[in-house]
Amino acid sequence: MRPEILYPLFGPVRSLPGIGPRLALLIERIAGPHAVDLLWHLPTGLVDRRYQPTVSEAKDGEIATIELLIDRHVPAPNKRLPYKVQCSDDTGVLTLVFFHSRPDYLKRILPEGETRIVSGRVETFNDELQITHPDYIVTAKELDTLPLLEPVYPLTAGLSPKTLGQAIRAAVERMPSLPEWLDPQLLETKHWIDWKSAIQAAHGPTSEDSLDPLHAVRSRLAYDELLANQLALLLIRRHLKKQGGRPLKGTGDLVRTVLAALPYDLTGAQSDTLQEIQADMASDERMMRLLQGDVGSGKTIVAFLAMLTAVESGGQAALMVPTEILAQQHMAVLAPLADKAGVKVATLLGRDKGTSRQRTLDELAQGEIDILIGTHALFQEGVTFRDLAMAVIDEQHRFGVHQRMTLGAKGAATDLLVMTATPIPRTLTLTAYGDMDISRLYEKPPGRKPIDTRVVPLDRLDEVIDAIKRAVSRGHLVYWVCPLVEESEALDAVAAEQRHESLKQVLGDQVGLLHGRMKAAEKDSVFADFQSGQISVLVATTVIEVGVDIPRANIMVIEQAERFGLAQLHQLRGRVGRGADAATCLLVYKPPLGETARKRLTVLRETEDGFLIAEEDLRLRGAGELLGTKQSGLPVFRLADLEIHGALLDVAKKDATLVADHDPQLESDRGRALRTLLYLFQRDEAVRFLRAG
Ligand code: ADP
Ligand code: MG
Repeated sequence: MRPEILYPLFGPVRSLPGIGPRLALLIERIAGPHAVDLLWHLPTGLVDRRYQPTVSEAKDGEIATIELLIDRHVPAPNKRLPYKVQCSDDTGVLTLVFFHSRPDYLKRILPEGETRIVSGRVETFNDELQITHPDYIVTAKELDTLPLLEPVYPLTAGLSPKTLGQAIRAAVERMPSLPEWLDPQLLETKHWIDWKSAIQAAHGPTSEDSLDPLHAVRSRLAYDELLANQLALLLIRRHLKKQGGRPLKGTGDLVRTVLAALPYDLTGAQSDTLQEIQADMASDERMMRLLQGDVGSGKTIVAFLAMLTAVESGGQAALMVPTEILAQQHMAVLAPLADKAGVKVATLLGRDKGTSRQRTLDELAQGEIDILIGTHALFQEGVTFRDLAMAVIDEQHRFGVHQRMTLGAKGAATDLLVMTATPIPRTLTLTAYGDMDISRLYEKPPGRKPIDTRVVPLDRLDEVIDAIKRAVSRGHLVYWVCPLVEESEALDAVAAEQRHESLKQVLGDQVGLLHGRMKAAEKDSVFADFQSGQISVLVATTVIEVGVDIPRANIMVIEQAERFGLAQLHQLRGRVGRGADAATCLLVYKPPLGETARKRLTVLRETEDGFLIAEEDLRLRGAGELLGTKQSGLPVFRLADLEIHGALLDVAKKDATLVADHDPQLESDRGRALRTLLYLFQRDEAVRFLRAG
């Protein structure tokens, strides 16, 4: 339960003064749903209005705050010319200029014969000093509403700087003082101030310096966020490890049988990683290992052999995948191999209902099923293993931290292997997994040919369709991926349906359609038809992004490729180039192409190295772009920038380790303050593993 002291910060944005439903929506879009999200929305600039010259001193181009006597209103002679208000002080004259003005409003705020304090950028025009559209016009009494140092925040269309500024100030005012969770010594050596003062200072910058991410104030806030991240990961990991493991030594029999039945030899990388995994399994600590391997590097077989080791040791194993298609595909590949070894593999899918589901559950509980493959349906209630010794999570980036970390709960001391094709740079691995042990498949199976990747503008779509027609007549299988629309599966489906229709007119019945909104049975039959070559072109949404493996399919068209993130394009492209034939990927874009989109497509055309692509991806989008990061399943940082605060991440990791060693239940004063920190950054799941206290 979130501590009471944080309640005001977790009120909805709507609860801030002056924020109605429409503004709330805009603020949520740029900052987030809670008042606390506004605290994390830091200024990116600063307007300094402290320059207060007389009119004669005022310098062209500077932002100035000047006290003026309002002499005379000069209405605009016609619509294209501005409305002017002539003003002066003892030293000279200055004109205020307004385009598209409302004269009665101007008369009201600038009454002739009175003085006003005006702030804005001073310019010289035809030898006259003027300020066009002043930012502030106040009376001497209202002077305190004119911020001499004004933070500038990132905005979104429809949201004015004033409104957002007010909302942020309200959120900052709501902020409680919180107990200090940082180590006093660290505070001292870094010259950091307390959290509340730091937030206030971050929103009240006094110089360009204070906007620097390495400024003491911002470093402290970044550190808080990194510490919350590292501590949360560590607590969850310790919790799982503490439950102990059990040695799964295996006999090697099943593994040997299956290796002999494989039509290929394992690559060196596959053998190495399998050994690392088996060594973990054999130890009596619980395994927490990440198997990282680029698309097509052959993770599935490594996982299967490891699961066989668990079965050899008398236990069961489970393989969790993000989509039903993937579960069935794994089943199709692995069942024949399992047969040879006399091992029983089954699937459990969300669609399984009634007696067939019950039969699977019974067989699972009795231990007749050795290996169960399924979607998250696997870890629902009512699914009971006789003895789950090992769990594998494939393509983990599709699952939340919670799902992936707590699934061990299905078995006593279940060994955990998570697999990902998203090549994650090292700093990010640390923030996504903490201390998880990592194995890397550093090479791909031999004989893969490079994928010929081309970037094609949409107005050449006819040529693309002609080329597809020729390829299909020569017996090739083609994926046609439709654009991602607004992250909505329903809209994606419409786009795919339209493309399906138009391609059918050219290519006839050999075009199939696959999207997330279709019924399970429909999906299956389309997928099976494609696999068997009954249909040759599969028009699909990104449902095919992960894991799909049809070696015969060697052409991929990605429509409006500019809308996809780099990592996602790499994943999609990874569906082809798996067979003996040379593969082609056509990235069709809709001009004009923005600068970043152009770079993304260029990177993709030039390399297939997932690691390079991941690093380029990070560089191109920066840590701030929420969408891309969300899709990759990586944590999103609001205050820390890993490229800049990488050194702090290491400190945070060490700090978290010390805390977890000395105060594992967070019961000391600092420990209790750290609980507040975890809640502040919404790492509630980690606190759940602690004893109440
Ligand atoms: P991913 O790592 O993307 O999950 P898969 O496990 O789906 O990759 O493997 C991709 C393809 O490579 C599959 O068709 C698989 O049969 C094949 N494969 C795996 N290991 C080898 C190997 N050592 N030699 C040849 N082909 C292999
Ligand atoms: Mg895979």
